[in-house]
Amino acid sequence: MYSEVLKSMDGGGQMEMHMIPHENPWENVLTQLRHTAEIMKLDPNITKIIEKPEKTVITNFPVKMDDGSVEMFEGYRVQHSNHRGPYKGGVRYSPTISLDEVKALAALMTFKTAVVNLPYGGAKGGVVCDPWKLSKSELMRVTRRFTYSLMGLIGPEIDIPAPDMNTNPEVMSWMLDTYSMMIGHTELGVVTGKPLEIGGSAGRVEATGRGVFIVMDEALKTRRKNKSDLKLAVQGFGNVASNFAKIAHESGYRIVAVADAFGGVYDSGGLDIPKLLTYASSHPKRSVEGFPDAETITNKELLELDVDVLAPCALENQITEKNADNVKASLIVEGANGPTTPDADEVLNEKGIMVIPDILANAGGVTVSYFEWVQGTQSLFWDEQEVNDRLKRIMSRSFEEVRASKDKYNVKDLRTAAMALAVEKIAKVIELRGIFP
Ligand code: NAD
Repeated sequence: MYSEVLKSMDGGGQMEMHMIPHENPWENVLTQLRHTAEIMKLDPNITKIIEKPEKTVITNFPVKMDDGSVEMFEGYRVQHSNHRGPYKGGVRYSPTISLDEVKALAALMTFKTAVVNLPYGGAKGGVVCDPWKLSKSELMRVTRRFTYSLMGLIGPEIDIPAPDMNTNPEVMSWMLDTYSMMIGHTELGVVTGKPLEIGGSAGRVEATGRGVFIVMDEALKTRRKNKSDLKLAVQGFGNVASNFAKIAHESGYRIVAVADAFGGVYDSGGLDIPKLLTYASSHPKRSVEGFPDAETITNKELLELDVDVLAPCALENQITEKNADNVKASLIVEGANGPTTPDADEVLNEKGIMVIPDILANAGGVTVSYFEWVQGTQSLFWDEQEVNDRLKRIMSRSFEEVRASKDKYNVKDLRTAAMALAVEKIAKVIELRGIFP
């Protein structure tokens, strides 16, 4: 079963589909964009352009199953913007994926790549399927046929997919192979998040968590407390969360709570993160559930803990109007995409809680994907230290630029500041390039 494949790959991909709450994510993104446009007094003609994804592809394709039957699958690729460079964004496999979810994530990619100033636009894709119920060979055929249906739409200068929820480096190998077979030569630049053996980048696996850590560390620099006196709570223990927790722990921060889809653990004196990583890696669901020498805690309790930093690194719509008022952390750093709803943002702003938004906080992943693409197209590979140093420079600089944007637009929150910074860059390029023809 594919769960075995995912377990063996980076991050584990143990997302519990049935637990994902459903607000309309596309409406949320549009709300944030329109709010930002109003504050920036953006030319309405530019808003009109950014509000619409440039291309939306829905593909239905047959796949032969192991038992000889044929199943039809539905796949999406939304290319939101390529004003600043090729479209860039992940592919997720999920039984509950919707076109609105893909549209929202595609637009967030456009803003994210602009915030950290990568020469990319934004895209996202997905296939409606339950990877946990498919065999590895069925998953490979789904991936190959989906990739085939995107021929002409993807490519190193056109649109560069990457792994996302329930896809992994192995899926990227299949995409690369299918694309390469169709064009007649191996093309490393067509996808990122590849295994190291076929053009992956050192440091890519940890990159998102490392980026979350870097911006949190920047935000905490001005606080007077010692790192070990600052209490951190982390939601999730997958790729982003576990790497964030590991790097924060190594740097001296005290992580008091971790909760994932199956359970949570709490220790006011600080969790032993190396032990927790070892425990979770041998847990059948890669969970922290049942970790000895710690109290148990629910996700709801974790989000409302009396801590300095809350890092939601699991899934969307976790801080909503229902619980925002109970959040006690003074800093929220969004490792996940869309963990805070616009209604909750208003409450958090009123309470003076600083939120480092997803489009900045989790941009470390796409930044190292960009490094991977650069290395692949040049066939010249860097060591991990070089990758990490370059990532640190980009994340720290971007954090400063978002802070400067907050002052420039005189806004209270970093989300609007980051959106404004991104929209400014996209708008400038649209203006410079002009409207074709
Ligand atoms: P993952 O599948 O490796 O881990 C997800 C974690 O969330 C798991 O620990 C799972 O148990 C937990 N989880 C699932 N449902 C939960 C629930 N209801 N309550 C609490 N915990 C729950 O995924 P990931 O790659 O770490 O991605 C996490 C988030 O970060 C997603 O929003 C993703 O879009 C975003 N993100 C990931 C990357 C990346 O490079 N992996 C980059 C940018 C953004």
